[in-house]
Amino acid sequence: MRLGFPRALMYYEYYPFWAGFFYKLGIELVTSPLTNREIMESGLKKAPDETCLPVKILVGHLTVLSDVDGIFLPRLVSMEKNTYLCPKILGLPESVLYALPAGVQLYTVDINWREGKREVLKQLMAFGGTLRATKGRIREAFAEAQRWQKAYQRMRHSGWSFTESMQCFEALAEPMKLKDLGFKQVGRRQKPEDFEDGWLLDQAVRSGCREKGPKIALVGHSYLTYESYANMNLLQRLREKAQVVVVENIGPSPVEEQHSKLQKKIFWSHAKKIFGAGAVYVEDPEIEGLIYLSCFGCGTDSMTNDLLARRARQNQKPYLVLTLDEHSGEAGVVTRIEAFLDMLERRRDYESHLSSYGERLDRDSSLT
Ligand code: SF4
Repeated sequence: MRLGFPRALMYYEYYPFWAGFFYKLGIELVTSPLTNREIMESGLKKAPDETCLPVKILVGHLTVLSDVDGIFLPRLVSMEKNTYLCPKILGLPESVLYALPAGVQLYTVDINWREGKREVLKQLMAFGGTLRATKGRIREAFAEAQRWQKAYQRMRHSGWSFTESMQCFEALAEPMKLKDLGFKQVGRRQKPEDFEDGWLLDQAVRSGCREKGPKIALVGHSYLTYESYANMNLLQRLREKAQVVVVENIGPSPVEEQHSKLQKKIFWSHAKKIFGAGAVYVEDPEIEGLIYLSCFGCGTDSMTNDLLARRARQNQKPYLVLTLDEHSGEAGVVTRIEAFLDMLERRRDYESHLSSYGERLDRDSSLT
């Protein structure tokens, strides 16, 4: 069986989980290609105008997944205690049905960690019935999925870039991709252990930060940060001129710590993570500035952005907001990031005595 999996939205965080789950069940999980013009245009044409850009991109990816036995799109309700995912993500399996290629069936399952591990397993077992998998096999697949997801998080924390870690998991779930990665034994199904000898780490082109240039943080949803077609290769452009850290470089404990300082807790998972990581970077003296990558029409971004902007102002940390939508032009984005990086260089030359908020910071100067 071959199940299609759109390379959009939740792919960017939970693909390893589902790759491990289906790998154990012997089902090939086929991801759609990287976003390109055709996918983007198809999404923009079919999705409702008022929805956000990431959902439009997802719709575009669904339309190109035709050579499969079905499309898998889970309903992720909650991925950790006391938080929910955005309502647009909760409603996905129903709200994008119109975009499925003719004759392709949708497979879905509810995942709600708020109800505990037992409930998640129960839902997966019910889902296993539609795949004709026994309860025992679903239990094993669930354990494998968790193992893959943990391995992915470990890889990210130990310096693997997003692209090289995802390539590993895609190659395991979709054996044909091994050829693209340089493996000779394409016929044999690779095992996770095959990657643990550091082979891919040596082979992959490491994205690595520049050693020089300002150190900045790029914060925002993973499905925008790594969506290089929609963000016009922003991460790569920044990395050519600066050392860049992202939300995924911050572990759960510092995020919780920052979150606990808020009077009212944030209950949207992504917003909590972005705020927590952003607040850590605002307080980090080594980080010279923050860029918030937001998208037009995102409800949670409007709140997180404001909270982080206030923190940045209190800490006199330069803060730039880039809002993406389908009309964003490359020239506008490039001009803004270049101006921002130039400003950081100037601040560095003047030992931070240049404010990005219109105030003079050199209080002792006779010019104030
Ligand atoms: S969190 Fe924002 S960007 Fe993400 S799906 Fe919801 S509205 Fe769209």
